[in-house]
Amino acid sequence: MQTSPSTQIVNVGGYQIGGPQFTVIAGPCSIESYDQFSETAKGVKAAGAHILRGGIWKMRTSSKAFQGLGPSAFDMIKTVCRETGMTLVSEVTDARQIEQLHDVVSCYQVGSRNMHNYSLLKELGQQKKPVMLKRGFAAFIEEWIKASEYITNGGNPNVILCERGIRTFETATRNTLDLNAVVFAKKNSHLPVIVDPSHAVGIRELVAPLALASAAAGADGIIVEVHPRPSEALSDGMQALTMGDFNTMMHKLEKVLIAVDRPLHKEVVYAN
Ligand code: PEP
Ligand code: MN
Repeated sequence: MQTSPSTQIVNVGGYQIGGPQFTVIAGPCSIESYDQFSETAKGVKAAGAHILRGGIWKMRTSSKAFQGLGPSAFDMIKTVCRETGMTLVSEVTDARQIEQLHDVVSCYQVGSRNMHNYSLLKELGQQKKPVMLKRGFAAFIEEWIKASEYITNGGNPNVILCERGIRTFETATRNTLDLNAVVFAKKNSHLPVIVDPSHAVGIRELVAPLALASAAAGADGIIVEVHPRPSEALSDGMQALTMGDFNTMMHKLEKVLIAVDRPLHKEVVYAN
């Protein structure tokens, strides 16, 4: 097990990801309304989350499913970030969104379905804002690490790897969390590695145990979906933690992190 810091430390909203401390990113799958996002943001902040997540453009399997609010969400996002003092990680699904999102996010997310979109990765390498690169759901670990080089070789060293579960023969859970990939990438890449247990398992009750396992295995952080009323969520309600679930998970996480000598970040140093 390797829990030592990564060589590359990536600053997201004032939090050093990949250093000695552990980072928690939380929020809804999709940003749906001011009320939903603001309630979630305030709840996860009170429970100890450091950075917000929330989709603006969604990569849905069905073209008829909710596709995200798009640019109409920008003003409300800025308001919620200002109100909470937090910053947002959100997915960029098209290179044309890089500029549009520049003042809205502290870190671009590249989704699992776009890990192989090398033209998008090259564009993200042309700027300096951090990029969280999710592993393709059918990608080899080596392909994932090599994909990160499209960004770093372009001149942007600020890349975070995110293991989010892969497709295996098993169908009882949405995907299979590959903790092998976490420990392998920690050892064989210089980049921080975080885990998304929500998409990895797809079942609310199973998210927290996998988050704890990720922390114990040496991940640098987690990104978790939370919704104040999961049954009303416009995407991924089945895997969204309630505020109560998130609180409980954070208390357990703190204990696991003490055991592996990897404290949670305390206060933000500065926001960017
Ligand atoms: C998400 O984070 O909401 C998402 C769509 O993730 P992934 O790209 O891992 O499926
Ligand atoms: Mn989701």
